[in-house]
Amino acid sequence: MSKARIMVVDDESILRMDIKEMLIEAGYDVVAEANTGELAIELAALHRPDLIVMDVKMPKMNGIKASKIIQQSFKIPVLLLTAYSETDLIKEARNANVVGYLVKPISEQDLIPAVEVALGQSERIKALLGNIQELEYKMETRKLVEKAKGILMEIYKIPEEDAYKKIRSYCMTNRTSMKEVAEYVIKHRQLDSRRVSSLNLR
Ligand SMILES: [Mg+2]
Repeated sequence: MSKARIMVVDDESILRMDIKEMLIEAGYDVVAEANTGELAIELAALHRPDLIVMDVKMPKMNGIKASKIIQQSFKIPVLLLTAYSETDLIKEARNANVVGYLVKPISEQDLIPAVEVALGQSERIKALLGNIQELEYKMETRKLVEKAKGILMEIYKIPEEDAYKKIRSYCMTNRTSMKEVAEYVIKHRQLDSRRVSSLNLR
């Protein structure tokens, strides 16, 4: 597996450097560093890291607000760093794609396992989102194919099975997807049924 790409965000430069060193030593790639929430959003857009390790308390935009924006725009998981006094803020973080948080001071023994867990969760979420998209595509295709079949059955006066065969054979000869053929049939049916016939679906 390639090295995970991580961005480190903290307004304290010494802490930022410490964390960066721990991550590099553990074999990660630190692709960007930021000292404000605003810069974190900008650099998240630019570098698209796999994970962001981000301080909660920073001047101007805090880490939770930045996490929310990053979640909405880029869906990059965030591991928050907080002080004991700020743990109340964590409750706010529920909807911000925060995959975990660490309480300062941060030690290597705490940081690396938390990063591992966060990256694992992010992989699972990515896979899950991919599955959902695939499923949605299949369901949409099925709906369109059903509709296209109905149109062909009516035009050619053929049974459902033959209508399906027509669509499939057109896909194969034209190296196109079922969805595209179905969309074509539906679109042209609305304009002029003779144009569907002129598709010459065999
Ligand atoms: Mg801070």
